[in-house]
Amino acid sequence: MSEAPVNRILRSSIVDGPGNRAVVFLQGCNFDCVYCHNPETIALCNSCGKCLPACLRGALIRGNAPSSVEASGGPLGAVLWKKESCVFCGACLEACPRNSSPRVRLMSPGAVMAEIEKDLPFIRGVTVSGGECTLYPAFLLELGTLTREKGLTFFIDTNGSHDFSKPNRAGEDEGLLEVTDGVMLDVKADPGSDEEHKRVTGRSGYDILGLGEFLARRGKLYELRTVVSPGLFDAAALVDKTCRRFAGLDPRLQYKLIRYRPIGVRRLQAERLAVPGDSLMKRLAAICGGYGIRALVV
Ligand code: SF4
Ligand code: SF4
Repeated sequence: MSEAPVNRILRSSIVDGPGNRAVVFLQGCNFDCVYCHNPETIALCNSCGKCLPACLRGALIRGNAPSSVEASGGPLGAVLWKKESCVFCGACLEACPRNSSPRVRLMSPGAVMAEIEKDLPFIRGVTVSGGECTLYPAFLLELGTLTREKGLTFFIDTNGSHDFSKPNRAGEDEGLLEVTDGVMLDVKADPGSDEEHKRVTGRSGYDILGLGEFLARRGKLYELRTVVSPGLFDAAALVDKTCRRFAGLDPRLQYKLIRYRPIGVRRLQAERLAVPGDSLMKRLAAICGGYGIRALVV
């Protein structure tokens, strides 16, 4: 049975795929986006203990039980989170020097489904986000299968670093595309420019548009997503380049244009980024419209 570090489970969301959905946020990301709105989901906790004094509720303890995170915790034991004592004040996140969180649970797909089970009559499906959820393909495959068995749809929110067109070496993702009803794909910067892509995400560009095309041709691409901040990159050029590739591929495809907002970013360089005005967002939406792609500005 596969397990993955779960940062949190949102019982209801109407912005993470079609309809009302449960959203599972996995911990760990292979990108380091300059504007990340959930920076505490990027790194795995190493149980250094620097957040322990920040918790005034006794919700963090040293323990010898396997931690919900990667490290054993060394001779002092892992840092463990007692959910029942936590008031979600966020002080531990502020104290962590590596953008991690001690509030992470290592969960099996079955345990996640058991937590979601009580909401099944009210939701249309499950979306897995992150961090970067495709770092855990075996977990996704199992959770997707369980979700489909319940008659619900299964969506994945990804930065596109996982190549759905080829099974990975361990074969853990064999069948993942079949159990996935839709993918929300981030187009974060011009994939053809290593300089721009590195500046925005910390990683070189790659064939994200090719991956998107592969998904769209199979009816699996639900949404493209770009976060817009003037001065960070040429958003109009990126949206135009992207739409040109996807025009006519799938009439259901939508492009979510996300206005950068300095909320939850918690990193100095992100706080300095510019917030786009209405005129730029309208211009981007018009570019999408010109290619017959529905834009959703948020
Ligand atoms: S959450 Fe951060 S500060 Fe706390 S133990 Fe883990 S790495 Fe250390
Ligand atoms: S969020 Fe929870 S674990 Fe973190 S400091 Fe606050 S009470 Fe403690």
